[in-house]
Amino acid sequence: MSYKFETIQLHGGQYPDPTTGSRAVPIYQTSSYVFKNSEHAANLFSLKEEGNIYTRLGNPTTQVLEERISILEGGVGALAVASGAAAIAYTFLTIAKYGDEILSANNIYGGTYNFLTNTIVDYGITSNFFNPKFPEELYQLITPKTKIIFIESLGNPSGDVVDIETICAIAHKFNIPVVVDNTFATPYLIKPFEYGADIVIHSATKFLGGHGTSIAGLIVDSGKFNWKDSKFETFNKPDSGYHGLKYSDLNDIAFITKARVKTLRDTGAALSPFNAFLILQGIETLSLRVERHVKNAREIANFLSKNTEVNWISHPEFNKNSDKILIEKYLKKGATSIFTFGLNGGRERGKKFIDSLKLFSHLANVADAKSLIIHPASTTHGQLNDLELKKCGVKPETIRISVGLENVDDLIKDLEHAIKSSKLGGSL
Ligand SMILES: *Cc1c(COP(=O)(O)O)cnc(C)c1O
Repeated sequence: MSYKFETIQLHGGQYPDPTTGSRAVPIYQTSSYVFKNSEHAANLFSLKEEGNIYTRLGNPTTQVLEERISILEGGVGALAVASGAAAIAYTFLTIAKYGDEILSANNIYGGTYNFLTNTIVDYGITSNFFNPKFPEELYQLITPKTKIIFIESLGNPSGDVVDIETICAIAHKFNIPVVVDNTFATPYLIKPFEYGADIVIHSATKFLGGHGTSIAGLIVDSGKFNWKDSKFETFNKPDSGYHGLKYSDLNDIAFITKARVKTLRDTGAALSPFNAFLILQGIETLSLRVERHVKNAREIANFLSKNTEVNWISHPEFNKNSDKILIEKYLKKGATSIFTFGLNGGRERGKKFIDSLKLFSHLANVADAKSLIIHPASTTHGQLNDLELKKCGVKPETIRISVGLENVDDLIKDLEHAIKSSKLGGSL
């Protein structure tokens, strides 16, 4: 039976515990699992039988989380890891090898940008960037070395809408998989697989967990990409490190299996079962929280757009340059609750404004139940020079806001007060 989103977020992937009948998902806080006998042990190791061996490879609590996100996104399988950054790194390293290139949208999370431009380059994987507002740029930039096209479903930090379907259509002409970071949209607002995406990743630290308590990452496989193409060499030769398995023989679960039994097994950023439990708790109320996040954000964007001290605002529904057709297509359930704006007075005014807020927390996270604020140019994007900042769509005065679940009147009062006092108190 196929259930709707709100039902899946509560029940997906869980079968009440056969030993205790526990209604909540039990936390299996264990590193390893007792074999029934020597034959069972041997069968598990030689892949003749499925089962738990060691929590780095899999854990029953974590498995519920993996199945739940896979059903919510519409995939064939998922892998949970210790952070969103690990989910991104593991996805790239499972597909690309020395000599390959990753082609990424330029409006992405600062950490991913840094990984692509600095860290991964030292391992012989190069990167290049395109402007997702102009998908046709891909025709110029795709080369025989391109093995991944990477985008975020809603750009960070400006929340711009990306035309996933057009980008996937171009990528697939060259048999290149499209990886989508769906952290900001969540499957409640956008399901990238419906538009042709091949792999979805999440920083579950954000909306999925939803309460700012735990770091976690998820990788979901659509099962649709054809890895049998000889250019994906590591999928098409027997892996001597894993019983001579040829991953492409696994068809729809080739990618997600390789990510688990090779990348995760050998490098070990496994998610702790306790954090898997906390992310599951968050997912139980995902749709309700996202609806309220979106509603509060819309009211705040409306307030800011009418305030004469606000120079510009990037919320998709209030930005005069927004592509209305894309919004209608991708954001039927509402736009983001994370967006940016700039006050008159530039960088200094922005800093003073943030210091005047009382209810918003000034910190480096988004998508908490609590409202958050930050100045990207001096923090998350602090290592980028002005030219790189511009490439990422960040201005020196940009303020990023993550609207939480407080009463929106209180949030607006806090913003109003900080806008006033940052103006009066200063030497502007
Ligand atoms: C936070 C974030 C990440 C990194 O995730 P962590 O859980 O912090 O490692 C990746 N992508 C996006 C869009 C994010 O917001």
